Amino acid sequence: METKDLYKVLEVSKGASQDEIRRSYRRLARKYHPDANPGDEGAEDRFKGIQQAYEILSNPEKRREYDEGPRQFFGAGNAGQGAGGGTTGADFQNFSDLSDLFGGFGNLGDVFGQATSNRRQASPKGEDVTVSVKLKFTEALEGVTTRVGVPVEEACGDCGGSGAAPGTSPRTCPQCGGRGTQSRDQGLFALSTACSRCGGRGSIVETPCSRCRGAGKTRGVRQVKVRIPAGARDGMKVRIPGRGGGGRSGGPAGDLFVVTRVEEHPVFKRKGDDFVVSVPVSFVEAALGAEIEAPRPGGGTVRLKLPAGTQNGKQFKVRGAGAPRTRKSGPERGDLIVRVDVVVPKKLKRREREILEALSEERDENVRAELFRRVGS
Ligand SMILES: [Zn+2]
Ligand SMILES: [Zn+2]
Repeated sequence: METKDLYKVLEVSKGASQDEIRRSYRRLARKYHPDANPGDEGAEDRFKGIQQAYEILSNPEKRREYDEGPRQFFGAGNAGQGAGGGTTGADFQNFSDLSDLFGGFGNLGDVFGQATSNRRQASPKGEDVTVSVKLKFTEALEGVTTRVGVPVEEACGDCGGSGAAPGTSPRTCPQCGGRGTQSRDQGLFALSTACSRCGGRGSIVETPCSRCRGAGKTRGVRQVKVRIPAGARDGMKVRIPGRGGGGRSGGPAGDLFVVTRVEEHPVFKRKGDDFVVSVPVSFVEAALGAEIEAPRPGGGTVRLKLPAGTQNGKQFKVRGAGAPRTRKSGPERGDLIVRVDVVVPKKLKRREREILEALSEERDENVRAELFRRVGS
C-alpha cells in the first residue's frame, strides 16, 4: 500500500494540536467534498484521503502508532481488524461526522456523493431505494421539506420478524441441530452445504405467521421527511444515508435516493443555475432605447436599461437573480438572462402608417444591400 504523509494530506505540521488537525480537516473536507466537486474524481480521491488521514491523526493512540512507524501501521496493523474493517468503518463514520459541515443538507441527507457508494461491508447492507418527488417551481426554487413514501421491507409487526405465528416460536432445526449446514463426505473432502430442511437458517417454523406467511418481513411504505435544498433542479438526486431498506444480520441500512421532478415554468426556463426569460419589447422601444421591467423568478421584477438600437434576441444578464446554488461554491445565486423579443405591430392605425411611411422615406435605406454584396464577393 502506498504510504502518504498524513500530515501533508491534512496540511498541518507534525506537531499540530488536535484542535488544529480538526480545523484543517473540516476546511479540507468542505473543499473537496463530492457535493462541491461533482464529477471530479481527483477531488473525490482527495476527499477519501483526507478522511483516512483524519481517522488516524484525530485518534491519539493511532497517531502515536503512526508517528512511530507508518509503514508497519499500514501493513500488518489493519489485518487484525478484519477484511477492510479499518478503513471501511472509518469512511462511514467520518462521513456522518461531516453532516454538520453542510448545514443545509446535513440533517436529512446530502446531495448525492459517490464517496461512500463503493464501500465494502461485512454484513449485507440493505437495499438502496430510489424514489422521485414532484416539486412545484417555487418549491424547487425556495427549497421545501416534504414527505415521500418509501417502499421498504420491514420486520413483520405480527410475529416480530420470526415468521412464526404469534404465540408460537421457531424451533431448532432437527436435521442440522441449528447449525444451518450439513456435511457430506466426498472422498477426501467433507463438503459443507446449506441444510436442506431449514435452508441454512438453523430453525424451522411449524405454524407460519398468517400475515407474512412465514417470511418474517412485510412490504410496507414508510414516510420519510426529505429536505429539498433551495435551487433544486429537475433530476437532482438527494441522498439520505440509512433510510433505504433495512440491512440483514445487523448490517447497515441501505440509502434512500430522492430524485427531484420539477414542474416546468411557462415563462422561466432553467439553464444550469441561471434562468432565461423572453421579454417582449416593442420595435420602437428597441430602436429608441427604453427602461423596461422584467419578471423575476420567485416574484417581483428587475429593471433593465435597453440601449437605443437593441437587436432582437439580444440577451442581458441580471447578476444574482437566478436560482440559489445547491453547491456551496461560487456566488450564492445564478443569473437571470433576459432575452429581448422584439414585437412588430400586426395592425397600424392610419396616422401610425403615415408616420412610418415618412420614416421610411427619411431613411431611404436598403437593409439587404450588405447581404447581397457578400453573396456577390
Ligand atoms: Zn409475520
Ligand atoms: Zn437445518
